[in-house]
Amino acid sequence: MLEQIKKEICDIGDRIYKKGFATGNDGNISYRLNENEVVCTPTMISKGFMTPDDLCIVTMNGEQIAGKRKMTSEIKLHLTLMKELPEVKSVVHCHPPYATAFGIARELIPLGVMPEIEVQLGEVPIVHYAIPGSQELADTILPIAHKSRVCVLANHGTLSWGDTVEHAYWWTEMLDGYCRLLMLAHNLGNVGYFSRQDIQDLLELKKRWNLTDPRTSLEGIDIGDNDVFRDLWEKAGFGHRAFVPPGTKSNGLGNAVDIDAMTDIIAEKVAKKLKEK
Ligand SMILES: [Zn+2]
Repeated sequence: MLEQIKKEICDIGDRIYKKGFATGNDGNISYRLNENEVVCTPTMISKGFMTPDDLCIVTMNGEQIAGKRKMTSEIKLHLTLMKELPEVKSVVHCHPPYATAFGIARELIPLGVMPEIEVQLGEVPIVHYAIPGSQELADTILPIAHKSRVCVLANHGTLSWGDTVEHAYWWTEMLDGYCRLLMLAHNLGNVGYFSRQDIQDLLELKKRWNLTDPRTSLEGIDIGDNDVFRDLWEKAGFGHRAFVPPGTKSNGLGNAVDIDAMTDIIAEKVAKKLKEK
């Protein structure tokens, strides 16, 4: 089994590298073998050129117990998430360019654009910037761990998790593909958004497939706005700047903007001016 897992980590590393999700020695991958042992990628290695021999084994406390190379410096991020979610076997971290660009621009990833994203990912959480490799960065994941399977690390990259290495990787690839499409459509000059009913229908579908979505279980959440993780992204300085879905409540610049109220004010002013003429 160990050899098979190591090979799968190398294969996913190859895909990460070929997709351009990890330049230089960026990125790291892990898999939990049993209650106390995790196999992970080493530090200072291209993810596209790893062999099973290069991988390390660490304990859940982060002590390396096997492998000729030194373990990834980002191991705390992986282990903290695994301790929080016993069902999670694998964690993938890398710097996919389109999703990471949202993390650098501090732009929220809008909802209500692609059906697959609504169903498979839902609202993508953002966590505030912290030094790579630190326990502080690892702890940023705790508030979102139970409500998502992927997240954006501000000014850094992405993290995704799952029951196999391939599944953990899927969410990163889907997220980056979505961010790429958003940018392409934005360049064309328009992004069409689903109605609240369209989103509601997709959430119903999700329920039928036994996929949970915090939008359906939390009180007072607007299913079309980035509400679920609002506290976190506001703290991280994110907002709707390039992508402003209809009815969006906040531009993330510290001022709450009610689009409907603003439209009413403008309409009133225009009507007044016309009357004056
Ligand atoms: Zn990184």
